[in-house]
Amino acid sequence: MNSSNMENDIKARLREVLGSLPPGVGLVAISKFHPAECIAEAYEAGQRVFGESHEQELSKKFEALPKDIRWHFIGHLQTNKVRFIAPYISMIESVDSLKLLREINKQAARCGRVIDVLLELHIAEEATKYGFTPDACRQLLAGGEWRDMANVRICGLMMMASFVDDESQIRAEFTRAADFFDEVKQEYFASDDAFCERSWGMSHDYGIAVECRSTMVRVGTAIFGPRAY
Ligand SMILES: *Cc1c(COP(=O)(O)O)cnc(C)c1O
Repeated sequence: MNSSNMENDIKARLREVLGSLPPGVGLVAISKFHPAECIAEAYEAGQRVFGESHEQELSKKFEALPKDIRWHFIGHLQTNKVRFIAPYISMIESVDSLKLLREINKQAARCGRVIDVLLELHIAEEATKYGFTPDACRQLLAGGEWRDMANVRICGLMMMASFVDDESQIRAEFTRAADFFDEVKQEYFASDDAFCERSWGMSHDYGIAVECRSTMVRVGTAIFGPRAY
């Protein structure tokens, strides 16, 4: 495949994914491991929200690409890396500890910013996934320390379903996440309009995710093709 075909493919696949999303569901184009040129193609086709999972890779792309891109961080984030992305990151979707939340708040304050975050839920059966179990998330919120963090804004929940073929299992996990969102919304964020995002759905399961009340899908492979790790 020559490079202009590749570029046209990215635009066509982006439009296809966008066309399959119901109104009100946002797309985070997951560009990890794909070069800046591929991101530029999607950008030309109108996409402005991109997701990355490694700080160094993201910082390089941030430098190289247009500044009106809204970057979401979606990978496991070490606390010592927060300061590098704090000046520009649009949303950190993968907050998986109180320690990390504190550090984001601290670094955001240093930059004079308020950083939007999602709490990452661990609902999938796979043992390797990061994130709060529902109980750990309840504990964090009940603890109340987050209320005093003036420089982070908790905008909702993120989760990944188990990587399985069994649609009913995926659906059950998304549904648990959606029910948990309702619980937390009612208990802690009932009067906070900013708490509104349910980030679930990837290339292989975003169709199911939107049926299970996702507001934000994170799609990489279906737009950019397979990643070369
Ligand atoms: C890589 C990644 C995605 C995108 O996965 P695809 O299968 O390529 O769509 C979504 N969410 C997270 C957290 C990821 O790490």
